[in-house]
Amino acid sequence: KKNRMPELHQNHPPFGGFLAAPLEKLKRIYVSPGPIYDPEGRKEDYWGLRKCLYNAGFRPGDLVMNTFSYHLTPAGIFLDEACNGIGCITVPTGVGNTEIQVKTMAGLKINGYIGIPSFLLSLIKKMEELGYDTAQDLAMEIALVAGEILSPSLRKELNDYGIIVRQSYITADLGGVAYECPGENGMHISDDLHIEICDPTTGEPLPVGGVGEVVVTDFSNECYPLVRYGTGDLSALDADECACGRTSYKLKGIMGRADEVTKIKGMFVHPRQVDEAAAAFPETVEKIRVVVTREGVTDMMTVEIRLKKGVEGTDALKASLEEKIREATKLRGTAVFVPEIPEGSKKIEDKRNWQ
Ligand SMILES: [Zn+2]
Repeated sequence: KKNRMPELHQNHPPFGGFLAAPLEKLKRIYVSPGPIYDPEGRKEDYWGLRKCLYNAGFRPGDLVMNTFSYHLTPAGIFLDEACNGIGCITVPTGVGNTEIQVKTMAGLKINGYIGIPSFLLSLIKKMEELGYDTAQDLAMEIALVAGEILSPSLRKELNDYGIIVRQSYITADLGGVAYECPGENGMHISDDLHIEICDPTTGEPLPVGGVGEVVVTDFSNECYPLVRYGTGDLSALDADECACGRTSYKLKGIMGRADEVTKIKGMFVHPRQVDEAAAAFPETVEKIRVVVTREGVTDMMTVEIRLKKGVEGTDALKASLEEKIREATKLRGTAVFVPEIPEGSKKIEDKRNWQ
């Protein structure tokens, strides 16, 4: 199971005993949150992401802005390579720097986007704010989005700007797992992988259509062959015929996390990280939890803190808590002092509505 990987990797460094090839067969080692080290072999299209991009609608000659980070996560580089592999030209812009990204997007007439969907909308809004005319200056036609649930309303809003938005299910350890076709009704499973949907507690496969944990076996990987790997993501299989003609089963989108690990602003946040932040304040913090909400297309992280008896919730304490939370989760959150945290509530309470 994915949530056991950090422990397994720590006990048997550097790959938890899962590496099945000598080190010289590797091309790269990626650092993922955890920390987990993800090995990349030298096989062409090692991550199976070329077909993911091609199926999404990317074509040779497309000018593609890749807004995933190029370090401390595989997403930036492995999608960059896949783009090059099918003949696209990449513009590696990475995370943040919205204004420079907007200028680049307009200046180069970029027509492809890779990243989380909400950031694409932020870029377009910024473009408007800076006085660009999107009818003229926005050349964007196609987007491959991952790392965040795409709500129907966000897809519609991006479609209204003339952008085709295709979702993909990509993980740091498996690469391209599933991708949308023009039917935009579920994600076809990559043909190198065998996928079962299992009961997250018993591990028993569920009948087609049941919602459970996505469990993956990778038949194409000689370096890091994960067998019945529990991703922690929830989905269901769709065996219906697809209008596009592909006959592979589809995943009905990603419906959340089987454990408490929650993806916020495209980053995994584990309850452990929340506890880590609290542990830095042993004299002051009694209880802590994270509440995730969504304002428009932006995830908001509120950290509720119940202070110990007699401790005053000053602005300075709030600021240092927020600083520690950012250190532990790599995300900005707002700390609020609350009189009570409900008994039995989850460490990370996900209150986002994806309708
Ligand atoms: Zn299809």
